[in-house]
Amino acid sequence: QVRVRFAPSPTGFLHLGGLRTALYNYLFARKYGGSFILRLEDTDQSRLVPGAAEAIEDMLEWAGIPPDESPRRGGPRGPYLQSERLGLYAEAVAALLETGHAYRCFCSAQRLELLKREAHRRGETPRYDNRCRHLRPEQLSERLSRGDPHVVRFRLEPAGDAAAFQDLVFGHNLHEVALVEGDPVLLKADGFPTYHLANVVDDHRMGVTHVLRGVEWLISTSKHLLLYAALGWRPPAFGHLPLLMNRDGTKLSKRQGDIFVQSFAHKGALPEALLDMVTNCGSGFASNRMGRTLDELVAEFNESKITTHSALLDLDKLPEFNRIHLLHRIEDVARCRHLVEELREAITQTFGSQIQEQDVLEEGYIRRVLHLRKGHISSLRELVTPTYAYLWIRPAVSQQQLQAVTLEAAAIVTLVIELMEAGHGKELSTEWLGAELKAVAKRVKSTKYSSVMKLLRLALSGQQQGPSVAEMMVSLGNGETCQRLQKVLQ
Ligand code: GLU
Repeated sequence: QVRVRFAPSPTGFLHLGGLRTALYNYLFARKYGGSFILRLEDTDQSRLVPGAAEAIEDMLEWAGIPPDESPRRGGPRGPYLQSERLGLYAEAVAALLETGHAYRCFCSAQRLELLKREAHRRGETPRYDNRCRHLRPEQLSERLSRGDPHVVRFRLEPAGDAAAFQDLVFGHNLHEVALVEGDPVLLKADGFPTYHLANVVDDHRMGVTHVLRGVEWLISTSKHLLLYAALGWRPPAFGHLPLLMNRDGTKLSKRQGDIFVQSFAHKGALPEALLDMVTNCGSGFASNRMGRTLDELVAEFNESKITTHSALLDLDKLPEFNRIHLLHRIEDVARCRHLVEELREAITQTFGSQIQEQDVLEEGYIRRVLHLRKGHISSLRELVTPTYAYLWIRPAVSQQQLQAVTLEAAAIVTLVIELMEAGHGKELSTEWLGAELKAVAKRVKSTKYSSVMKLLRLALSGQQQGPSVAEMMVSLGNGETCQRLQKVLQ
């Protein structure tokens, strides 16, 4: 059975890059009927950000890609927080010490610093010189009995094929780590594992079959394979995902500032729009059309189509993604009900006591507004901006304002009221009204069609701009339209 995992470190909140990595894992699990695991890699205790662990899981749930197993949900291979799995790492370290694949290192921080400085002076990349590999047994037991602080390091050997692998995305790969790196630390002096050890132990213990993670880990994979071999474990398959970058190829966070999923959620972005956007700019799908739902992403996902190119994100397109997905939601009866509730709350919050007509809070009315505006708005919040205030509260328009448009205001409005009375009892449509309003305008010889519309728009909404007059009338309904027009005559 396929098991994949998303393994962020709670050293920060979930950003778009992380969301995308999680999504690919989720899609892979769904496609193969497997499990999607959330594991939090919190071994670097000094860098933990309070609240981040909770927030990461919250955001996966918000995005509609909840893990099957996680710190919050639990599961058969838990715990899912690395800081609660220290015993398992210690066990692996003991086995590696036993077989000679690992050794204790007592080198002081000062000595390591010195090595680093010397390397820099020579213009080389610093690496540990593996000195403690050569401690004699009596030196070792003496230092141990003194209780000297120490770390445990992995003995890297030139590995050849043992470290080679076929990456699902990047193809054949091999990094001869032993030739370029000193022996890496597995267990720190505080008893916490390093990323490399914990990652390998957990992927094995959690039965992970495929590791899909960011390409920045590609060069670590050979090292991980050596660890699997030393522990006598079968490694999972690996697929490294290309980076998500700004449109101009710069690092994501640099240019665009706030790229945290949470802030998009606060600003009213729809989760499915974010998912569509972060996959649309990359590869791995049968098509790259906009507007794919999560189910469609699952159906179109094909890991063999993931290319090595970075995905270039254009955040300016987010409103467009949101617009399309908002339209989908409005057209879905059940999901539209939630939108109605959400919008009702926003209306009450924004306009509160200014609302005179309680009808505007009724489901039928709000639903009608949503259906008329779908495809034009990219966020529900637009509907509580001043442009749309007329939908919820009556506008205050003075006679002077109306007269400034045309001196025929009363005559025009009278004709339109007659029209509405004729249409009473019928269901209003924008087509019918559009045609009828044209006919009315024709009858008013002295005023241009555009001024007639300007007048009506002003009388109905107090605005110079907005949806078509016919649409305004349909959303307000016959009764309310007439009442607002009557006011012009008073
Ligand atoms: N904790 C690592 C990160 O934050 C996970 C890398 C991996 O998936 O192996 O990116």
